[in-house]
Amino acid sequence: YRQDFRRPAGIRALLSAIERQLAAMPTPSRPWQLMEICGGHTHAIFRHGLDRLLPDCIEFLHGPGCPVCVLPVEIIDQAVSLARRPDVILCSYGDALRVPGSQGSLLAARAAGADVRVIYAPLDLLALARRHPNAKVVLLAIGFETTTPATAALLEVARAQGIDNLRVLVHHLMMGPPLRALLADGGCRVDGFIGPGHVSLVTGQAPFDFIPREFGLPVVISGFEPTDLLASVLMLLRQLAQGRAEVSIQYRRAATEAGNRAAQALIQRVFEPAPSTAWRGLGELPGSGWQLNPAYAAFDARALLGGGAGPAAPPPAGCGCDAVLKGQIKPADCPLFGRACRPASPVGALMVSAEGACAAWYHYRHEE
Ligand code: SF4
Repeated sequence: YRQDFRRPAGIRALLSAIERQLAAMPTPSRPWQLMEICGGHTHAIFRHGLDRLLPDCIEFLHGPGCPVCVLPVEIIDQAVSLARRPDVILCSYGDALRVPGSQGSLLAARAAGADVRVIYAPLDLLALARRHPNAKVVLLAIGFETTTPATAALLEVARAQGIDNLRVLVHHLMMGPPLRALLADGGCRVDGFIGPGHVSLVTGQAPFDFIPREFGLPVVISGFEPTDLLASVLMLLRQLAQGRAEVSIQYRRAATEAGNRAAQALIQRVFEPAPSTAWRGLGELPGSGWQLNPAYAAFDARALLGGGAGPAAPPPAGCGCDAVLKGQIKPADCPLFGRACRPASPVGALMVSAEGACAAWYHYRHEE
């Protein structure tokens, strides 16, 4: 089925249409800077070489939509502190275990004896908590609106079944606020956004409506295959040529304007907006994440940390993650890229996940 979206004939037709559209633009040779918000898009662009297939005047900027990439050092430090407790089983998604904190990663903690486990779905923790009634089974719960409903489902079931040894360390994020912060910062010029298809499945287009309304920029919510992304580029160029700015959906086979209302309701039953949330590279952003609502406060793993959450840790020396996340530099411009920072020994979080801009750049562009 996916091959339908990878056929050379379809790709060639879209590239020709893009070239015709570029020739008809008011300023044909202007560099058009398009930010793909989602890490899945970043990976697909590099994997399929779309940046090379497109004319040089189209430049991709890599946005803040990879949840592993924006995990702040202090959250990793908190997770490592929890994992080191003898009564804790710490669980999370595979890539999260490799993100370096100031005292090493969760994988390093596991190598030193901590009980750290990879999970594929949050509901897996129900059986684990039942099998280990004397342990605290903690989920490092990360991600945008794509993974937040799964954490909410876990907690609803755990509460209904009276499972009282389960905890969550929450770093669930909203997609809109970092984009607002980037645009307000003005540190890089963006002409349009390729919107995140998977987040939009849950949220619909509402989190992105402010971009055309307040900043006059177009957004196209895109699928993840080569023809999806090229069609989205074409849709963005058409809006720019016609002086339009609106949110439109290319990924019609999955995303809708309203999103998944059942998943939205599930999030609202378990979480509430946190006053402020820390992001790697972007700092504290008000209203950008979720916290447990009072009915679920007993599941909060931070209560196990005792002396509070601890201060925000500084980034590693020389780390360029913040500038890459803001679209101000390319990964290869970071002084650590390919030297101190490689996929096998990441210094920054953008080198950890396959969806991270630095990891994608390293795998598909480095040493060519
Ligand atoms: Fe961050 Fe490493 Fe990328 Fe530099 S090369 S921006 S330290 S992930």
